[in-house]
Amino acid sequence: MPWRNGQPDAMIPPGETIGILGGGQLGRMLALAAAQLGYRCHVYAPEHDSIAADVCAQFTRAAWDDAGALARFAADCAVVTYEFENVPVGPLAHLAPVPLLPAAKALEVGQDRLTEKHFITNLGGTTAPFAVVDTLEDLVAAVETIGAPGILKTRREGYDGKGQWRIMTAHEVDGFVLTGQPLVYEGFVNFSAEFSVILCRSSDGNVVFWDSAENVHKGGILATSTVPASAAVLAQVASARELAARIATALGYVGVLACEFFATDKGPVFNEMAPRVHNSGHWTIEGALTSQFENHIRAICGLPLGDPALAATGVEMKNLIGDDVHDWAQILSDPANHLHLYGKAAARPGRKMGHVTRLVL
Ligand code: AMP
Repeated sequence: MPWRNGQPDAMIPPGETIGILGGGQLGRMLALAAAQLGYRCHVYAPEHDSIAADVCAQFTRAAWDDAGALARFAADCAVVTYEFENVPVGPLAHLAPVPLLPAAKALEVGQDRLTEKHFITNLGGTTAPFAVVDTLEDLVAAVETIGAPGILKTRREGYDGKGQWRIMTAHEVDGFVLTGQPLVYEGFVNFSAEFSVILCRSSDGNVVFWDSAENVHKGGILATSTVPASAAVLAQVASARELAARIATALGYVGVLACEFFATDKGPVFNEMAPRVHNSGHWTIEGALTSQFENHIRAICGLPLGDPALAATGVEMKNLIGDDVHDWAQILSDPANHLHLYGKAAARPGRKMGHVTRLVL
């Protein structure tokens, strides 16, 4: 396969193999979209019960830092992508010369909340006020400067509200015991709504956006995504898109990028980005002319991007979390519902088991 600057010089023809790092539901939905276009997928993940591997041609179960396994995996692939943003970056060099798309720079930036916030502010974006916290003294100083309420977050590896502690008053800090993990303290953003901008960028720099969904989180986990978003959000989408496009260009990004924002009375405040397909874009499978999963596959294979336009008057995506999944027969009894179950064996509190998309035609 001819490559230039780590990007496809020509399209990767159907029939070739796409490597996916990470074995969860995002990989599963990517693989289903890839299969529709005639590609085979090979999943690489450390866990033995990969729900992505269940729908893929091949599965390598190995540690993220297994140089030999990464090299053998890459040898089977025309391109490698990822569905999990906390893949350790160093060992990915063993994938060369097979390209990794989006490139590793997006992982480096997205894996550390501090690096990410500096990156965003350097691009002219607005984030919550933040301060680095390595010690209790840092935390005291951060709460004094930024004020409370605020949220203390681990810099790395937090997701779905994990690795976050809300600090409601400055007094609460007295009782804190820090574990030595690098942290960041964020001022609480007074938002009227949360929304995401999901874009797909091709290797020749073409960018398409899906309609922005208004997202409601419960306990730090996405509960629903609704399109169209409320007027308060719609008024801020253009400015948020402009920042998201700047991020994608600065990263030389190829594929789907998701950026989460708070809608505030001072405009959109950037919360975080995910250099991958995103839960708040699951509605695009039935609700858009081309889904985020299909366009990601098209982008990394050098194919023209599909139209992301809304295919209904409105769409609501609801996550099935923990025991919600037991309602599946009732969900299917309404013909407007599209049910997606991820095939996870055990329902645990907070675990995403599937989602339901409801179209308003
Ligand atoms: P995160 O993992 O950083 O996306 O946080 C999960 C959820 O917590 C967000 O979607 C918000 O609902 C809430 N949250 C996180 N950071 C802030 C903040 N600085 N101000 C207000 N709410 C926040």
